[in-house]
Amino acid sequence: MTANRRFSSVTRIGPVQVGTSYGDRGRTQHTAACTAPRCGFSADYASRSAAELAASTHRCPVR
Ligand SMILES: [Zn+2]
Repeated sequence: MTANRRFSSVTRIGPVQVGTSYGDRGRTQHTAACTAPRCGFSADYASRSAAELAASTHRCPVR
């Protein structure tokens, strides 16, 4: 994972956290990341709603 991202407005949907970060060139990026220890799901999305949708539909392989 990239270390020096600054996340703002982090919300949690189930085990998945959705955060907005500001990447290079001032672009806003939305990241959904699962907090389950052995899942490792993490993805970037162009919009907040897409990231939240991915978070709410994420099925954790670790139970
Ligand atoms: Zn997961």
